[in-house]
Amino acid sequence: MHELSIAVSMVERIIEESEGRGGLQVEAVHLRLGVLSGVDKDALAFSYEIACEGTFLVGSRLVIETVPLLIYCDICKMEHAPESIQQMDCPQCHSPSQKIIRGRELEVAALEITA
Ligand SMILES: [Zn+2]
Repeated sequence: MHELSIAVSMVERIIEESEGRGGLQVEAVHLRLGVLSGVDKDALAFSYEIACEGTFLVGSRLVIETVPLLIYCDICKMEHAPESIQQMDCPQCHSPSQKIIRGRELEVAALEITA
């Protein structure tokens, strides 16, 4: 279950940042998760709870925003949003090996701080 190791390192980074800014009270963590990140949203949410145990982040919320897939076709010179992640070729010219612009994100977008 690699979601747990992701959650643990995420929590460690948040704690570091919070302490670096003088001990912020984090109420919620906003995460951007791409559909191609290979991370299961529910498993990550569950792992986050476990990772928070014993830290001051316990009780904080994890808000996961799913980032849809966006590819760029060099031939059409256009961005495309495929309907499924199984369909990685250009919907217009059907050429493969597209550049992925969005969809691989796994990043903390924002921290909600208790005033
Ligand atoms: Zn194309």
